[in-house]
Amino acid sequence: MTFDPSLDTAPATPLDTAVDAARQRYVDDRPVSAAWSDRAQRVQPGGNTRSVLYFDPFPFRVERAEGRYLWDVDGHRYVDLLGNYTAGLLGHSPQPVLDAARIALESGWSLGSVHTNEVRLAELLVDRFESIQQIRFTNSGTEANLMALAVALHHTGRGKIVVFRNGYHGGVITFGDASSPVNVPHDWLLCDYNDLGSVDAAFDEHGDDVAAVLVEPMQGSGGCVPATTPFLTGLRNLCDRHGALLIFDEVMTSRFSPGGAQQLLGITPDVTTLGKYLAGGLTFGAFGGRADVMRHFDPTSGGTLGHAGTFNNNVASMAAGVAALTEVLTPEVLADTHARGDRLRTRLNETFTAAGVPMCATGTGSLMNVHGTTGPVVTADDLSDSDDRWKALLFFRLLEAGFYIARRGFIALSIEITDDDIDDVVAVVREMAAEMAATS
Ligand code: PLP
Repeated sequence: MTFDPSLDTAPATPLDTAVDAARQRYVDDRPVSAAWSDRAQRVQPGGNTRSVLYFDPFPFRVERAEGRYLWDVDGHRYVDLLGNYTAGLLGHSPQPVLDAARIALESGWSLGSVHTNEVRLAELLVDRFESIQQIRFTNSGTEANLMALAVALHHTGRGKIVVFRNGYHGGVITFGDASSPVNVPHDWLLCDYNDLGSVDAAFDEHGDDVAAVLVEPMQGSGGCVPATTPFLTGLRNLCDRHGALLIFDEVMTSRFSPGGAQQLLGITPDVTTLGKYLAGGLTFGAFGGRADVMRHFDPTSGGTLGHAGTFNNNVASMAAGVAALTEVLTPEVLADTHARGDRLRTRLNETFTAAGVPMCATGTGSLMNVHGTTGPVVTADDLSDSDDRWKALLFFRLLEAGFYIARRGFIALSIEITDDDIDDVVAVVREMAAEMAATS
């Protein structure tokens, strides 16, 4: 008798069947996106130029965006609950930002010189963020973190950097499941998030050589796992005791209040990195902090560090940032969006619990991640039993109903998302959860 592997596989569960059906409907409804993906594959490895945008079987291809909506080339409209992985906090093409960028471009670009809007944007950010006395701009959050680490090493004359499992600070500074072959080769000390004991032990062993602790106040790409306040306070104290710099990566969390997560927490780092939405959705990154640290970039006070970047002060981003901060992102707008996110997360969790499906939503304010586990989620270990099929089902069911979230379950509300949208999303999730509860 020959061995037939198909006879040896476990029978499909109702969850498998539901995922397969939702995925197949997705494929059937998007022939134009499928054809574009085939075409892209021939000239772009993976069919894209930003790895996170790929998902199996192929991503829908966007034709245009406006307000809170995206339209794909197959004629579907989606309420955008992903907001470009947080860079789209302002929604699509906010008028004040569009006007400011247009005016800036009409005055000329690629100036090869300094201009006025970069000073205005720097002033606005220095005003908002307690920890930032001086600031410099980059083209991405990744670059901002690279520069923050470089200045920390230089300032302290030390060689090691404390980072956290499951942390993400850019494509070349990432500490997920396995060590990334594209990471920059710094001398990392990998500790456990929300576990002060692990950081204490690292300082005990290497204290004199630790230049900095780099931490997200909430691990964003790692699944929206918020830090506890005692953990962050403990990091502040350890850095003070050992003469290391505390760097808050607020690329995602800066939206939590006008002064970022640090304002809500009442903890002031030495250096802060920013990115994503602060130029209204255009290319942006920034790092800033204590004047005595940032002065290393100031040749007039003996600073010897260079900071290059052809597009660091590009006129469109600088003008867009000024408009975003002065005309759109008022404290009230940020607080409303934060509160709406808190309500959505609470209602999702109530829905999962009521239906008895093993899912939960974690996060803070307008940023959240749905997981295929009941939680609670305090560290990456708590996600080890997360069942990806629940996230797949949620993803395809939401797309079918006209809502776009990340395939990994990540949601980043923009200021355009309404309470009615939240009601509609919860209704879809409730229906899905009830169906699954009925089959189990
Ligand atoms: N830091 C954090 C916390 C992020 O979430 C990200 C991007 O998702 C980055 C840094 C990198 O920013 P960018 O993609 O602009 O390089």
